[in-house]
Formats: sequence, structure tokens, C-alpha cells
Amino acid sequence: MPFTWAGRAASVSVAVRLRTAGRPRCIVTQVSEIVTLQAIDDEAAAYRAALEDVERRLRGSDELDAARRELSVTESALAAVRKEQRALEAQIEALTAKIEPEERRLYDGSVKNPKELSSIQHELGSLKERRAGFEEQLLEVFSRAEITERERGRAAKAVARCEAIWERDQQDLRRESKRLSDLIARTQGRREEQQGRLAPRSLQLYEDVRRRKGGMAVAHLRAGVCSGCRVMIPEGMRKRAFSSDALAQCPNCERILSLG
Ligand SMILES: [Zn+2]
Repeated sequence: MPFTWAGRAASVSVAVRLRTAGRPRCIVTQVSEIVTLQAIDDEAAAYRAALEDVERRLRGSDELDAARRELSVTESALAAVRKEQRALEAQIEALTAKIEPEERRLYDGSVKNPKELSSIQHELGSLKERRAGFEEQLLEVFSRAEITERERGRAAKAVARCEAIWERDQQDLRRESKRLSDLIARTQGRREEQQGRLAPRSLQLYEDVRRRKGGMAVAHLRAGVCSGCRVMIPEGMRKRAFSSDALAQCPNCERILSLG
């Protein structure tokens, strides 16, 4: 287009009209492009978090792990009770092995001496008393073993139930993982496109603030309050932030401010 003074005057007036709220249009546009980029990044972050959760569930299930741990605890408890049972049974058996020949000696007439007979009787009494004590303990161990066995049965059923659910979920989870991966790839494409709409300096500032502010680089200014840090920004500061040709940043949290 050939240069004319009239043309120049027209373009100046267009430039003036394009200023929004006293700010150059390019800055206003940059802010709106940054808001869009932030929205794309938020979307991608949500997909990534969901994918992470799906991957974690694909590796295993917390419920299944907990059920397996519970089963292992009850199995150890049962093994301990069985060990106690075997020890008591061995004690009882050993005592019976001593009692039986003594009883035979007492009744087969081989011992005639009353003093010796009385000593055997006394010894037998003491052996039987000890055996009765062990037998009583054994009964208590039997009842504990029964309870532990029931607990182990319940824990084994819980493991089987969790395993069945996990198996069934695997297919759904694999499908979900694929869906989320596709969405992430698509969002990545949109991000690259959106990045191209930003001036290198704006993009650099956005990336820098995003990295430092937990992924949230943009804040909205509503009724003088920054949505990022919830701090009321005094009017003077607000005016200063929006008066330059650069992107406005919250004086408190440094996030890029968008009006509305
Ligand atoms: Zn702030």
C-alpha cells in the first residue's frame, strides 16, 4: 500500500481505538493468549494426574496390598499358635511317657515295698498334675487356633475378592490409560500451537512464573484481589502494574495478572 499521510492518520486512530483500558492492544492480546495457555496447561496437568493414578492402579491396588498384608499377619499368627500347640503336645507326650511305666510298676505287683509304692504314687501325682496343667494350656491354645484359623479364612477370602476386582479393573484401566495418553498428546499439540501465539518474552515469563508457582502462572484480578494469593492489591500498585507496556504481575505473588 503506498504511503499517504491520510493512511498514516487512519492507522494511528485504529491503534488508539485498539488500546483497551489504556493498555496497548498487543499486551491485552498477550494476556488473553497466556490465559488460554494456562488453561491448556491446567487441562494437561489434570490428565497427567489422572493418568498417574491409573498407572498406579495398574501396578497394583491399595486394597489388594492391604488384604495381602492382613493375610500374611493372620498366617504368621496361626503359625505361632501351631508352634505353641506342638510344644505343649510334646511336653504332654513326654510326661505320658514317664507316667505310663510308673503306673505299670505301681499296679503290676513288681514293687512290694510300701515306702517305694508311696514314692511312686507321689511321683505319679506330681507328673499328672504337670500334665493336666499343660493339657489345660493346650485347650486354650486350641481355642485360639480356631479363632486365628477363622481370621485367616476371612483374610484369604478378602484377598480373593480384591484379586477378582483388580483383574476385572485391569481392562478398564488399560483403556483409560490409552484414552488419557491420547488426550495428553492432543493437549501437547494445542500447547505448541498456543506457544507460537506468544512473544518470546511473554512465554519466558509465563514458564518462569509457572515453574515457581506450582503450575499456576496466571491470576485474575477481581475487585482488586489477586486470585492467586488472595491479597488485596492497593489501587496505586494496581495502576502501576497496568501502566507499563509489559505484562502486569501481582506485586505480592508475582503471577501474571489478567483482568476479569
Ligand atoms: Zn497475587
